This record gives sequence, C-alpha cells and structure tokens, in this order.
Amino acid sequence: MFKIYNTLTGKVEEFVPHREGKVSMYTCGPTVYHYAHIGNLRSYICEDVLEKSLRYVGYDVKRVMNITDVGHLSSDADTGEDKMLKGARREHKSVMEIADYYTKAFFGDCAALNIKTPDVVEPATNCIPEFIKMIEGLLEKGYAYKAGENIYFDTSKLSEYYVFGNQNEDELKVGVRDDVEEDTNKRNKNDFVLWFTRSKFEKQALKWNSPWGVGYPGWHIECSCIGMKHLGEYMDIHCGGVDNIFPHHTNEIAQSESFIGHKWCNYWFHVHHLNDRSGKMSKSKGNILTVTVLKEQGYNPLAYRFFCLQSHYRKPLEFSYDALDNAVSAYDKLRKSALRLTEGEQGSVDEAAVREYKDKFIAAISNDVNTSSALTVVYEVIKADISNSTKVELLKSFDYVLGLDLLKPEEEKEESIDEELKAYVEEMIAKRAEAKKAKDFALADSIRDELASKGIVIKDTREGVVWEKTK
Ligand SMILES: [Zn+2]
Repeated sequence: MFKIYNTLTGKVEEFVPHREGKVSMYTCGPTVYHYAHIGNLRSYICEDVLEKSLRYVGYDVKRVMNITDVGHLSSDADTGEDKMLKGARREHKSVMEIADYYTKAFFGDCAALNIKTPDVVEPATNCIPEFIKMIEGLLEKGYAYKAGENIYFDTSKLSEYYVFGNQNEDELKVGVRDDVEEDTNKRNKNDFVLWFTRSKFEKQALKWNSPWGVGYPGWHIECSCIGMKHLGEYMDIHCGGVDNIFPHHTNEIAQSESFIGHKWCNYWFHVHHLNDRSGKMSKSKGNILTVTVLKEQGYNPLAYRFFCLQSHYRKPLEFSYDALDNAVSAYDKLRKSALRLTEGEQGSVDEAAVREYKDKFIAAISNDVNTSSALTVVYEVIKADISNSTKVELLKSFDYVLGLDLLKPEEEKEESIDEELKAYVEEMIAKRAEAKKAKDFALADSIRDELASKGIVIKDTREGVVWEKTK
C-alpha cells in the first residue's frame, strides 16, 4: 500500500489512482525569467523521488510539467510586474530569448541533480487555443465575467473556494501579501484574471488574438489546461511547493472543476520551503543560491540532493553551509563504502536477502515518501552480513529512486560535472580562432592567458587546438 499526505484532506492517505496501475501526475514548472534557486529545486527533487517511488513499486506513471513563459506577474495574485518582462529588461534580451535561456538552465540544473525530465514538458505559449477554449467555457457556464477589458473568474459562484481547508486564513493571505494595488474590476477579493487584454505594461511582448481582444493569459489557467490537454479530465497527483497552495492551486481547482463539472485531482502533494537563517529563500529577497553557485564553490550538486533526502519533504528544511558540509561528508563516506563493495570477493546473490531489503525500502518510500528511512535501509544493507554482490544489486536498485550515483566511479562523475567547463573552453577556443583569423593577436593572446589563469592550457596542433586542465 502506497501512502501519501494529501493537502486536500490534511491526512496521510492510501493512494488509489483513478485507473488501476496507472498514475497521472502534474508538476507546476518553473517561471523561466531567472535561474531556479536551490529552494525551488528542493521541490523538484522531492517530486522526482515521488515519481520514481511510484514507478519503483510498479505504477505506470505519466508526468506532465508546464513551463511558465507568459502570464506570471510578480505577485501570484495578478499584481505587480510581469516576471518575464522583468527578466528581459534586466538582461536586455527579448522575452523569448530569456525563456529559452532559463529553460535550458533549469533542465541543466535538473540533470546535475539527477532529476528526470517529465514525460511531457509544455511551454504555456504553446497552448493559447486551449486557454481560450477553457475561458470561453467558463464564460458560457457563468463562472467568469468581463470587466475593464479583462476576463475574471468569479469566485462567488463556488460553494467552496478555500478547498485546502487545513490552511488557516492567515496562512492563505501570505500568497497575496505583495498585493499593493487594488484591482477595482474584481467583483470579489479573490477573483482572478483568466485573460488580460488591458495590460499594465505597455511593452508586453507576447500577445495573442482572442474573442475578447488582443491580450495574454493569466498564470493559473496554464496548469489547468496543460494538465487536461495531456492527462484528461482526471488527475491523480498534482505537485508543487507549499507556496503554490494559495492562490495558485486554489485557483486551478476553482476553474478546472467549474469547467469540467466534477472533481479534478484527488491528491495534492506539496513540498515545504528551504529556509536560511533569515527565513524562506526567495528570489525577491535577492539571495539566489543556484546549482551553478554551489558548483563554483566546489560542491557536488548530488550532495545537495542527499542533503534534501535526509529530511522529510513535509518539513521546512534549514539551509546553512555547515549543514551542507555535514551532508557532503556523509555523502562522500556513503559513496566510498558503496564503491568498496564492487571490489574484492563478490560472492553470489542471495535472493532472499534481496527480497527482504527491497521490502524494507519499499515500506519506507511507500510511507509518505520517507526518504530518511529509505537512506537508513541503504546503511543497513552496507553493514549487513550478506555477499557483496547482493549488496551491490540492492544499492543499484535503490539508487533508481534515490538518484545519488552511489556506484558511479569518481572519474565519471567529474566528467559530467565538467560539461559546463568543456562548453566554456570550447567557446573560448572558437573566439580565439576568430580573433586570429581577424589578425587580432592581442585578443587571441588575452583569451589564451585567461584560460591559463583558470588552469587550462591550450596547444595548437596540426589536428586543431587541444586543451588540458592542469589544476
Ligand atoms: Zn501550476
């Protein structure tokens, strides 16, 4: 029996999918206007473990994620500046360039953290016709209205709007605390925009024709439509961070269930915040700690994954470098012990022991994705009085869920971490070749010196430029 905590009921429940053996799962994707910070990535790590746990116990999972490249304003409650525009202005690029760059950066971070890419990844800008169709349906059914040239969802039409009943009003208000401007078009305080035609931003880059005029969609409509487009009218698990509960997920449920006329998603899975000593880590506070920053500081991103797995997703996790350093030494020790098992006498695989420890591991992950218990099973296996081949088989199997590269030799790992360095050096070599071609030898030399200062030595050979890292 697989059990997960369901934010809708406030209880740990037995997971029963809509169709036997199959799981439809949805994850709110990133707003691609900036790098994801490691607090955002904690959610994606925990959701990755949930997906892999479900697959491990035998479910056939289809997972969908959106990419928010339009419609997400600075506050989750339809106010403030458009996040994508803000990113574009900051970097003197177009909105689409920003979206493309940060989408790639996001998946680069995911790869470094062994987070599997969902089966379907859909940018919001791909789905404008679907958004329009749902908004038309909501207008027809009387759940939406036009005011001040925008289309709003009318929350007063619902018998119950605050469906996440275990949240108290004060907590709910947190989502709208940035709300500085009162939108006087709204009939009710919690009504939200489905389609904007009157943009507050003159330079709104992305606009589409709609039955209500040229404009762009609100943020919440994205996830409802993209979810339904790929998973149909019934969704088993919807994931996100706790800060998505209100207003985002509350609004997703309001519009989806009004549109389809029945319950939409049965289980809501929310990952808690990563805090630093001053509170929740967030981009607006300016303290953006990214995977790239961690790498530059010499941390293996998988040590951060390990750090996250040591605690439960439903508890806030406090980040500090001391805590991360502790995780690094525990992780290195664990990997060394695991790798040592592949050396020396292997013995034969003890099938009974494999069954016994797999059952223990499954019990841990099936208990509301208890990753710290799952890690305890890993340590038990390493210490157990069973053959090395049995241990290796078990660790390989568990690592499918944990994603810690427990049995990957160090060299290979270095290789994958250095992908970024490789790309950088190759780019510099290409620039140097161009400079030489243009007879700008001073520039060519300065590029060579810059590489040398980073410990990269390049040599011109008959076969082209070769390079090596010397420190
Ligand atoms: Zn969403």
